[in-house]
Amino acid sequence: MVELRHGDVLPAPLTTRAQADGQRLPKSLFIKTYGCQMNVYDSARMAETLTPLGYAATDRPEAADMVILNTCHIREKAAEKLFSELGRLRGLKAERRQDGAEMIIAVAGCVAQAEGAEILRRAPHVDIVLGPQTYHRLPEMVALAARGAGAQLDTEFPVESKFDHLPDASGEAGVTAFLSVQEGCDKFCSFCVVPYTRGAEASRPVAAVLKEAESLVARGAREITLLGQNVNAYHGAGPDGAEWGLARLIGALAGIGDLARIRYTTSHPADMDEALIAAHGEESKLMPFLHLPVQSGSDRILAAMNRKHRAADYLDLIGRLRQARPDLALSTDIIVGFPGESDADFAATLALIEAVGFAAAFCFKYSPRPGTPAAGASDQLPEPVKAERLARVQALLARQGRDFNRSMIGRRLPVLFENPGRREGQLKGRSPYLQPVHAPGPASLIGSIAEVEIDELGVGSLGGRLAAAMPASERPMAAALLAAIASA
Ligand code: SF4
Repeated sequence: MVELRHGDVLPAPLTTRAQADGQRLPKSLFIKTYGCQMNVYDSARMAETLTPLGYAATDRPEAADMVILNTCHIREKAAEKLFSELGRLRGLKAERRQDGAEMIIAVAGCVAQAEGAEILRRAPHVDIVLGPQTYHRLPEMVALAARGAGAQLDTEFPVESKFDHLPDASGEAGVTAFLSVQEGCDKFCSFCVVPYTRGAEASRPVAAVLKEAESLVARGAREITLLGQNVNAYHGAGPDGAEWGLARLIGALAGIGDLARIRYTTSHPADMDEALIAAHGEESKLMPFLHLPVQSGSDRILAAMNRKHRAADYLDLIGRLRQARPDLALSTDIIVGFPGESDADFAATLALIEAVGFAAAFCFKYSPRPGTPAAGASDQLPEPVKAERLARVQALLARQGRDFNRSMIGRRLPVLFENPGRREGQLKGRSPYLQPVHAPGPASLIGSIAEVEIDELGVGSLGGRLAAAMPASERPMAAALLAAIASA
């Protein structure tokens, strides 16, 4: 760990209220999470590391003894937005000091990794900066900051894995849970900062993943989403000494009796191997919804993006996946306005979207990320061109999403209920295709899968009536669904 001192701007020694009182009073922790599910997962694990120090969650930053901003570098102008948020926190911290209390401010995540020293230079009220690979060292950094040891910066890629040093989670898990199995990326897409901020691809051993999954299920999780920047590149050490791919890992996870649903995200088309394609047809606990970023439909742009696949490869892959699982629904990521994107390149993207038919998608205007190869390209597109293309692609994807949701009307879907809905007596859950579904029902169904007759189309959601409670496994329903689709 590198310990930085600020010289003239060294913050005054920090003492939490509890320490000043000489007691271990509960301390409050506010975490603001930006970006992807990986960050949501990381935030939860950071909170767990701080539980032994007496920190409990609060949703009020102004009352927090510690604030963590878990940042995402994918966001446009991520650094500027972070500094503006830190400006607000400086005021809160000053107010607390006037009241005789302290606030430890930590910046974590990918912006911390990329801009660590700059954050401490521009925002000297920040006490801790830590990268995504060093969360397990957070308690030690908090202790040092609280003792007035100066600002703490740790953006190393340590030899030891953070996963081996994080505490085992306890307490109730949500009905749906995330489980990080892989981190980092070796693909170096020319627009992306992840290989620089998260480091090289690394996979957790199979035994560690199974242990965490069993713990999540024992604590109430019915669905687990396996996470990784490049999750289908998973290659963890198996208990048999062999290297396991994601398909084999999913097969082992499916053996956990009370685990009803498995998902995984985010994948790269080039890492979609035959075993994983086959798993979509063979493993009924693996949900028929796949997020598979394509980014562009133009081979010229895909090459400039260093995507390692062509449009035809992607379409061929979709065909094979749908052969394995006919009801597979797909979502994707699209970037419009990449440097040098011509009208013809953009038309190829629209054509690919038409050819696939996505159930959902995230689309973005290209915006340069400092330090990435594409950021220095000379043929950047004017903003109005990017905006116009974004509007067109969004309109097409919105229509496809609506059509997909509309096709559910009149069908029975197995819904995993996660929590109460907004209306009295209503429950909210998810279909196998990840659509939010609302239906009236008793709270006792939360954590269960039940069939819902879909009869209502909301904005990005479905509504319906409860048909019948489902058993723990969705196997019979998945088979029935497939049979219905095959005979349609
Ligand atoms: S595969 Fe994904 S995470 Fe890796 S460099 Fe490309 S966009 Fe970034």
